[in-house]
Amino acid sequence: MTTENATISALPAVPSMDELRQLFRGKIIVDGDVDFEQERKIWNGMIDRRPAMIAQCLDTADIQAAVKFARKNNLLVSVRGGGHNISGNAVCDAGIMIDISKMKAVKVDADKLQAVVEMGATWGDFDKAAQEYGLATTGGIITTTGVAGLTLGGGVGWLVRKHGLSCDNLIEAKVVTAEGHIVTASVTENPDLLWGLRGGSGNFGIVSSMTMRLHKVNTVVGGMILHTRDKAVDVFKFYRDFVKTAPNELTLYVGLLTSPDGIPVVALIGCYSGDLEKAEDTLAPVRNFGTPIADLMQPMPYVQMQALLDGGFPHGNRYYWKSGFLNEVKDEAIELLVNEMAAVPSPYSASILEYYGGASMVEPEGGAAYPHREAQFDLVIGANWLDKADDEINIGWARKAWAAMQPFTNHRVYVNALGVEGEDRVREAYGQNYQRLLELKKKYDPTNFFRMNQNINPDNS
Ligand SMILES: Cc1cc2nc3c(=O)[nH]c(=O)nc-3n(C[C@H](O)[C@H](O)[C@H](O)COP(=O)(O)OP(=O)(O)OC[C@H]3O[C@@H](n4cnc5c(N)ncnc54)[C@H](O)[C@@H]3O)c2cc1C
Repeated sequence: MTTENATISALPAVPSMDELRQLFRGKIIVDGDVDFEQERKIWNGMIDRRPAMIAQCLDTADIQAAVKFARKNNLLVSVRGGGHNISGNAVCDAGIMIDISKMKAVKVDADKLQAVVEMGATWGDFDKAAQEYGLATTGGIITTTGVAGLTLGGGVGWLVRKHGLSCDNLIEAKVVTAEGHIVTASVTENPDLLWGLRGGSGNFGIVSSMTMRLHKVNTVVGGMILHTRDKAVDVFKFYRDFVKTAPNELTLYVGLLTSPDGIPVVALIGCYSGDLEKAEDTLAPVRNFGTPIADLMQPMPYVQMQALLDGGFPHGNRYYWKSGFLNEVKDEAIELLVNEMAAVPSPYSASILEYYGGASMVEPEGGAAYPHREAQFDLVIGANWLDKADDEINIGWARKAWAAMQPFTNHRVYVNALGVEGEDRVREAYGQNYQRLLELKKKYDPTNFFRMNQNINPDNS
């Protein structure tokens, strides 16, 4: 061996982009490329990370190539679907962001009541395609949220009480594993993986497409009914008692927020998706409660309902959430929440209480890792502001409000509303299914290749 050769073979393996580029149909973007700054951004403006490379995939083979490349070069991997997750796990520093967001095809089979959706599709993409056939499935309430992350973590929305969680409507998934193999997860093929994908979030592989069950959904009756903030305690008490008696066709949330013209309000926000002839009887108690300052609930196309709240959550604002479930909503909890909200530093922030129950309590065939099946209330304290200089005051407000609510929570949390909050909170998110998920993680990803997520560390016991 010559001295020169010895020097070359002693060099560390440097990832050669050319090697990946040869196998890749999509786009490889690195720091310095014109679109790098734009493409590394996600919904939460708080997240400012610089991956070494962004691999924008166009098909399953691209995902497979990116996974193999990352494994060979020992790169940290993050996976971006819709890029909406509050934690910012879609983007990493220094590693490879495997970006699925350009894979947006949605193919509807109206006869089978199914759709095959690629994992870069947002709920806006999905609903638009399915509604052409008068069909829909449970999806998120903001059109720019990704089908991928939302469904993998559970998935609640305006149809959840009637048609179950999004993950309950997941029939089949095509997955690229940590070894770069393509596998199918369904009730008949790798049923354990299907179970894990229904609530275990991004721990088990990169999903390239999902087959979702569809339901007939046409015109709905939905929107907001607004009351002045001084009526907040009464409105929350009404909400708490009413929702437990409402039919599954109605999903209703209650929120403390500020109207676009700067007035603090309490809003009942809901969607009735049943027989239109019964809509007004169902909604009468909501419309007739107290003296609303505005009743904006009306018949509308489902896609309009799905876009109704988009304006409240713009891309690039700064966001910080605290969230958890409450078994019951005591009067004292309502009073505390309303008090904390009175001190909110930003008019864009909101606190929302959501009751699910109904079909969300029923597991689908093959089961699901999503553990929070009891009839309970989900509280999200959402800070939303514009200026980095105001980070401390807004994060401080959310933490204080959350601390005040702690005695009333049941120490469980929806994984999709979780920030970077430590191992104990991750265990609270997976609840009673943590051990089974841990065994699954050891089987499908024993080296924790996929760890930029609400992580189940295979080294745990
Ligand atoms: C404004 C707003 C409104 C929301 N509304 C709702 C709602 O109504 N209902 C609800 O249930 N949730 C809601 N959420 C929460 C939402 O479900 C999560 O933020 C979810 O993770 C978003 O998915 P994404 O694909 O957009 O996010 P991303 O940030 O792209 O992904 C989140 C994580 O999912 C994993 N992941 C993404 N794509 C893949 C893939 N293809 N394969 C494997 N893993 C993947 C990765 O671990 C990634 O870190 C909302 C969030 C926001 C910000």
